[in-house]
Amino acid sequence: MSIWICKACGSHYASNDAPPAHCSICDDERQFVPEGGQEWIARETLASTHENDWSELEPNLVSIGVSPTIGIGQRALLVLSLHGNVLWDCTPILDETTRDRILMLGSIKVICLSHPHFYTGMVEWSEALGGVPILLPQADLPYVTRTSEHIRPWLGDRYEVLPGINLHRLGGHFEGSSVLEWEVGADQNGVLFVGDTVQVVPGRGWVSFMYSYPNLIPLPTREVRRIARRIAEIRFDRIYGGWRDKFISNNAKESVARSAERHIRRLES
Ligand SMILES: [Zn+2]
Repeated sequence: MSIWICKACGSHYASNDAPPAHCSICDDERQFVPEGGQEWIARETLASTHENDWSELEPNLVSIGVSPTIGIGQRALLVLSLHGNVLWDCTPILDETTRDRILMLGSIKVICLSHPHFYTGMVEWSEALGGVPILLPQADLPYVTRTSEHIRPWLGDRYEVLPGINLHRLGGHFEGSSVLEWEVGADQNGVLFVGDTVQVVPGRGWVSFMYSYPNLIPLPTREVRRIARRIAEIRFDRIYGGWRDKFISNNAKESVARSAERHIRRLES
């Protein structure tokens, strides 16, 4: 069985022979097929040209990306807790050095993800780390491009992953789009990992809410209101987005509330 990786989005596909004709993630209107057409990289090729990078963002939190950048520049976040470690989001590759480094910090209890654009190498990571369960919202199972016995669907809007670490399914960008609450992060003030369920934007202290980021299709105001209401119920002060430079270090809850107001005001004006 060969593993083929979409060069544009980083999704994995298992195939007995040639790569598939299309990438279903890129064909969707929330991504795009690049001008030059669909391109694939064999997993072994990617492993010989790319490696993971590693940076500690705060105590008990590590960011793991891929260098040089592949796909949409996904990164994973490793949360260390007394009850076991959690991997939030994923990257298209996991190199051996990084795997060993992760395992030295203790076993990963679960892999959970913000949305399908970060599913990428989740099955490879799960297998390399000892068959870690992959929690996916039931609604987004149709977007899985490489299936696995380790995938565990979850239903509803909230799921306690471990004590003090909770998934909240907010929808919007995808029906299953989620955020992860880490209660003791940011010096006990609470952290929210958002992927792009809520997108941290360049204007400092602001976020946005889109159905499609590359194609600039906004979410309707009723959806933004609903998401803002759900987020208002979560206690947190800091946000880490899906990408390395996307974060709001404090007062992030206010940032989400005022960004939702701004979005709604502009769409309704
Ligand atoms: Zn793709």
